[in-house]
Amino acid sequence: MAELIQGREIAANIKENLNKEIEALKDKYGICPCLCAIEVGQNPASAVYLKAQKKNAEKLGLDYKLHTLDKDIKEGKLVELICQLNNDKNVNGIILQLPVPAHLDAKKIINLINPLKDVEGMHPENLGKIVLNKQGLAPCTACAVMEILKSTGVDLYGKEVVVVGHSEIVGKPLALMLLNKFATTTVCHIGTGERGVLPEHVNRAEILVVAVGKAQLVKGNWVKPGAIVVDVGINRVEDKLVGDVEFDRASKRASFITPVPGGVGPITVAILMQNLVRATKIQLGE
Ligand code: NAD
Repeated sequence: MAELIQGREIAANIKENLNKEIEALKDKYGICPCLCAIEVGQNPASAVYLKAQKKNAEKLGLDYKLHTLDKDIKEGKLVELICQLNNDKNVNGIILQLPVPAHLDAKKIINLINPLKDVEGMHPENLGKIVLNKQGLAPCTACAVMEILKSTGVDLYGKEVVVVGHSEIVGKPLALMLLNKFATTTVCHIGTGERGVLPEHVNRAEILVVAVGKAQLVKGNWVKPGAIVVDVGINRVEDKLVGDVEFDRASKRASFITPVPGGVGPITVAILMQNLVRATKIQLGE
């Protein structure tokens, strides 16, 4: 039976260390890092993440401001707000909550965020640094998966790792982070699934990370005995949250497994806070 990876405990450790860094910033510079989130229109999935951001920031004694904009806002107005936040020395981190309404070009707007304030690590400059193994501010969920793997004590060098999902926010940056640790990294995606070869890739994985967004896509009996399984997916099924992996059957074969909820999610928010503190230090020239 797999050992359950306790995301909340890992998140608590990250936040405990952050507390000390935040106190040090207050003592040395008299400043409190400030995070600004922007939501355009309202969407229930974003609401959960925004609530978690606010709660975590407040608990750590960080400043948090939410700008809620009308769903029909003109792109120029949103760009104006981003520029204003970029230039405000009291703002250390900026998040554009995705998705934004279809009339807005999310990529173009993210590219306008000052890379030093890009706490979600989605600016091309920050993504590019991962390619160069000079990671600065990097996507929070990919970092959360790396923290989980670290918590298991596994040595990634040469290991067979399979990442299912190749999104810009999770799968692609994570694959690069794993390559930087010399893991033998395979990335699967819709093309792999439609070709019908997902089970055989999954079955090879000593470490399996699934970030797709399809409930129980990965069957428990595909999992290699002894594998470490990290399930990033969050899917609502009959009022319950479930991951992308068939948890009950997979946990009988895996050595470690993350639950959904309570696995990757809480660590992602803790990493966001860590990125804010890191961003603040970079801005201060530390
Ligand atoms: P996305 O929709 O951007 O990407 C989905 C990926 O899955 C793509 O690479 C696609 O090719 C692949 N895919 C789709 N169907 C497939 C199939 N049948 N077989 C193999 N691959 C397939 O998704 P995302 O933004 O990366 O999010 C993925 C999931 O992770 C979602 O459930 C999301 O809610 C969750 N998520 C969780 C956190 C967290 O903190 N826990 C953070 C971000 C995303």
